[in-house]
Amino acid sequence: MPKGKVAVITGASRGIGKSISLALAAQGATIVAVDIDQATTDGAVAEFQAAGAKAIGVVGNVTLAADVERMVEKAVEAFGRVDILVNNAGITRDGLIMRMKDDDWDAVLNVNLKGAFLCTRAAFKVMSKQRYGRIINIASVVGQMGNAGQANYCASKAGLIGLTKSNAREMAKRNVTVNAVAPGFIETAMTDALPEKVRQELAAQIPLERLGSADDIANAVVFLASESSAYITGHVLSVNGGMYM
Ligand code: NAP
Repeated sequence: MPKGKVAVITGASRGIGKSISLALAAQGATIVAVDIDQATTDGAVAEFQAAGAKAIGVVGNVTLAADVERMVEKAVEAFGRVDILVNNAGITRDGLIMRMKDDDWDAVLNVNLKGAFLCTRAAFKVMSKQRYGRIINIASVVGQMGNAGQANYCASKAGLIGLTKSNAREMAKRNVTVNAVAPGFIETAMTDALPEKVRQELAAQIPLERLGSADDIANAVVFLASESSAYITGHVLSVNGGMYM
């Protein structure tokens, strides 16, 4: 378990990133919560501390190299190292390809894929010297199977899987493992807002007959961040109730 380890989580202030942060904190990890909005970051950090965690917040945009460098500097300044990086920050700008705007393509690729590249490059400088690291990229089932109306998002998540495997090969000699978690349909603010009929239709495509929870994803991340996963690298762990296998 990641006890005493320093974990940087992007998009940590709500949704899946918040559950991941709380789950890592419950295992004794120190949390560096990165998010783009000051108020939500402050709120999340207060919650992590109230739960007994050592935690700091860093407000920054994962698409900006300077912000990302600062995020790693702050982590090292405060806690001396970076053991775990969870590239979780992600956005959607859905639309059919014929009508997709250049800005919608660029925004999604920038946050979901370039953001993970920038955070990985910055964190690996520290992990490489430590000869230790765990990098976990939050992909998506639709990066594995595609989805009409989400070409930009699916391309970004498929790209993240390629990034995971390449980095796994490149970083292994420094004892840094790199894996991805590919969530299926997860209960979030977004899926909560769906009509009951749509939720039932979604659940009907899932062998385990329910949407996943943010905790289902957090449990997979805790495992990949732990010593128990030391011999696993370059893997894509599907957490999707069996909807894609
Ligand atoms: P969410 O609730 O929208 O949370 C994402 C967080 O990332 C937000 O706090 C957001 O801040 C932050 N963020 C966005 N752009 C950022 C940037 N440029 N720099 C720093 N932080 C940024 O999303 P979620 O549903 O928890 O999803 C988390 C991850 O899981 C994403 O990568 C998503 O693609 C993946 N995923 C989710 C599902 C699902 O069903 N929810 C399924 C498969 C995969 P603001 O809100 O303030 O912009």
